[in-house]
Amino acid sequence: MLFDYHMHTPLCGHATGHPREYAAEAVRKGLQEIGFSEHNPMPAKFDDWRMDLSDFPEYLRFVGEARAEFPKLPIRLGLECDYLPGKEGWIRELAQMADFDYFIGAVHYITPDWDVDNPLKLARWKDQPVEEVWAKYFKAMTQAAQSGLFDFLAHPDLVKKFGHRPKGDLRPYYRETLDAIEAAGVAMEVSTAGLRKEVMEIYPSKIFIEEAFRRKIPVLISSDAHAPQEVGYEFDRAVSLVKEVGYREVSCFRGRKRVAVPLG
Ligand code: ZN
Ligand code: FE
Ligand code: FE
Ligand code: ZN
Repeated sequence: MLFDYHMHTPLCGHATGHPREYAAEAVRKGLQEIGFSEHNPMPAKFDDWRMDLSDFPEYLRFVGEARAEFPKLPIRLGLECDYLPGKEGWIRELAQMADFDYFIGAVHYITPDWDVDNPLKLARWKDQPVEEVWAKYFKAMTQAAQSGLFDFLAHPDLVKKFGHRPKGDLRPYYRETLDAIEAAGVAMEVSTAGLRKEVMEIYPSKIFIEEAFRRKIPVLISSDAHAPQEVGYEFDRAVSLVKEVGYREVSCFRGRKRVAVPLG
């Protein structure tokens, strides 16, 4: 069974295509299920790459339209929520605003003003050692896992997006995050989005996935599609990778409950 739970809509301002086009592409590629996960709104204007709170009803309408037009394709409702320390209450409020199937926890911000995957902020990498940036990123990921707000975590080593990476064994950076994911019982994404970025690698690294498998952390494969043709992007590669590591199951979510299904 294969499905794609990480897909965006034009409401975030940097994705294209109506959800119906994503659904059509999913059917074309033989996916059995999909889910939308737009960047979560904030109570007030926060940055320029998420849906506005006033657009939230339109988000629900978009997903409803795709469901109506593809009645045989299960279409789940999710959100990709930024983990921001101190803003946990807002995520809980959002969870009450619709019948969500899952919340994806994502770390983009490693400080209140640095979204580490933002190409417009590449100069910031010169301000501090790569080791420090990585430590901050994985500390935030650990807190995201521990927060209990999310069903699975997005692109677990997004910090490598532009190719910045400490030398040597990276496991010391991963360890606390993996332990926290295991302890919290959340799942994690294996995302093919990294293949479309400068790093040209799946998120997370194979070593991260091996360490996750050792801890019995559930996984799911997603594309982080920001355009219809990116739905199910390079899923064959992600399936081979997780199978090679030992995974035989992936996770589905319905009404924020996890269900394990055999890997397609
Ligand atoms: Zn995005
Ligand atoms: Fe993201
Ligand atoms: Fe995304
Ligand atoms: Zn994303």
